[in-house]
Amino acid sequence: MKQDKKFLKELPERLEMALEILSNCELCPRKCHVNRLKSDKGFCKTGRNAVVSSYGPHFGEEKVLVGRFGSGTIFFTHCNMACVFCQNYDISQLGKGNEVSAQELADIMLELQGTGCHNIKIL
Ligand code: SF4
Repeated sequence: MKQDKKFLKELPERLEMALEILSNCELCPRKCHVNRLKSDKGFCKTGRNAVVSSYGPHFGEEKVLVGRFGSGTIFFTHCNMACVFCQNYDISQLGKGNEVSAQELADIMLELQGTGCHNIKIL
C-alpha cells in the first residue's frame, strides 16, 4: 500500500520523463533519435502508440507462471531485436496487429486481470 502511494505520487514525473525520451527516442540501445510523439518511426517501426497483435490468457509457460487461469499475455508487434530465428516473425517484424491508445492498452490489461490471469506479460 505504501508502495502504491509512492508510485502514484511519482507517476506525473515518470510520465514526463517517458514522453521526453519518446520525443528523441532512446528507449532501447538502437538509439534512433526519432520523435515518436509525432509518430516518426525508427528501427522498431513503432510510433506514438503500441501495436498489439493479440492478447489473452496464455498457458504455454512454466506452471508457476500460468497457475489455474493463465498468464495475461499481450503480443506487441515490431520487436527491436530482429532475431533471425524469431518464431513470431509475422508479428515481430511484419507488424501484424492494431494500434492501440494508452487507454485501450490499459483496458486490455484490466480485461486480462478480470478473467483471472495471475500476471500481465508482454511479448
Ligand atoms: S528501435 Fe524503437 S524503441 Fe529503440 S530507439 Fe529506435 S525507435 Fe526507440
